[in-house]
Amino acid sequence: MKKILITGAAGFLGSHLCDRFVKEGFHVIAMDNLITGDLKNIEHLFKLENFEFYHHDVTKFVHVPGKLDYILHFASPASPIDYLKIPIQTLKVGSLGTHNLLGLAKEKKARILIASTSEVYGDPLVHPQNEEYYGNVNTIGPRGVYDEAKRFQESITMAYHTYHGVETRIVRIFNTYGPRMRLNDGRVVPAFIGQALRGEDLTIFGDGLQTRSFCYVDDQVEGIYRLLFSDYIYPVNIGNPDEITIKDFAEEIVKLTGTHQKVIYKPLPTDDPLQRQPDISRAKEILDWEPRFDRSEGMKLTLDYFKGFSEEELQKSEHRDFS
Ligand code: UDP
Repeated sequence: MKKILITGAAGFLGSHLCDRFVKEGFHVIAMDNLITGDLKNIEHLFKLENFEFYHHDVTKFVHVPGKLDYILHFASPASPIDYLKIPIQTLKVGSLGTHNLLGLAKEKKARILIASTSEVYGDPLVHPQNEEYYGNVNTIGPRGVYDEAKRFQESITMAYHTYHGVETRIVRIFNTYGPRMRLNDGRVVPAFIGQALRGEDLTIFGDGLQTRSFCYVDDQVEGIYRLLFSDYIYPVNIGNPDEITIKDFAEEIVKLTGTHQKVIYKPLPTDDPLQRQPDISRAKEILDWEPRFDRSEGMKLTLDYFKGFSEEELQKSEHRDFS
């Protein structure tokens, strides 16, 4: 049985990856320090023989006994609210954490895939963003701790490939949504859904004309799965190119929830990218991958998940903004 270590396993993407690899017959070692992750996301796997959980912070030396075939490094705060609150941890997990996991991959002769992000493109001056674009990042802005950690992560990953021959893969993840997002992580999908379900106004930051392109989690997981088993070592964008303004997205949520909410406008957070859309030509060509879920289908599945929350849980996760 092949063994895979998944870091950030109790988080949104990490937990869906655990599900997928368990289903594919792997022995999964799930690792998380639970700063932003939640055991609820993986507790259904605890009873399985091919699943183990290690409560560990990957910025400290990572020890895994025995053989290891694959590593997926998905540990990191991943929402602006989180990296404003824990900027040092964000920098450390992308740098020190990645260094530890690359060292582990070298030691075990394991293949490692690291989770990078569209944030390496910063507030992009090229549209849509392809993998050749070097980005436009403010190193000292509030997003700098995440963006630069992820850029460093890509560099050290390539260096381990070049100098130590480690088998590496790099995915650049664009906005992804679905069940198990944290209701209060500040990201626009859970923020708007939470507000609608609590009967609050939807908060649009800025004029709402900034764009994002939202990928459903199952599509993201499929792209990552294919990349891991490909032989391609350079970064690959995985995301859904269907671009929408945040204003139009708010209207879609109001219609979808049938809650007749009003929208209100708040200041745009510093360095909030104005446009974002992945160019996925490389993923299409190399992985024969493209998204299957359109937004209406994916959002319905996501809303169904959040409808399962009790009134109390919904109230507890009251939305916070940047203003
Ligand atoms: N946003 C918003 N209202 C909210 C939360 C987010 O208008 O309550 C905006 C945010 O300013 C950004 C977009 O939605 O322009 C996506 O934000 P998110 O935090 O989900 O992701 P990111 O900015 O990292 O793409």
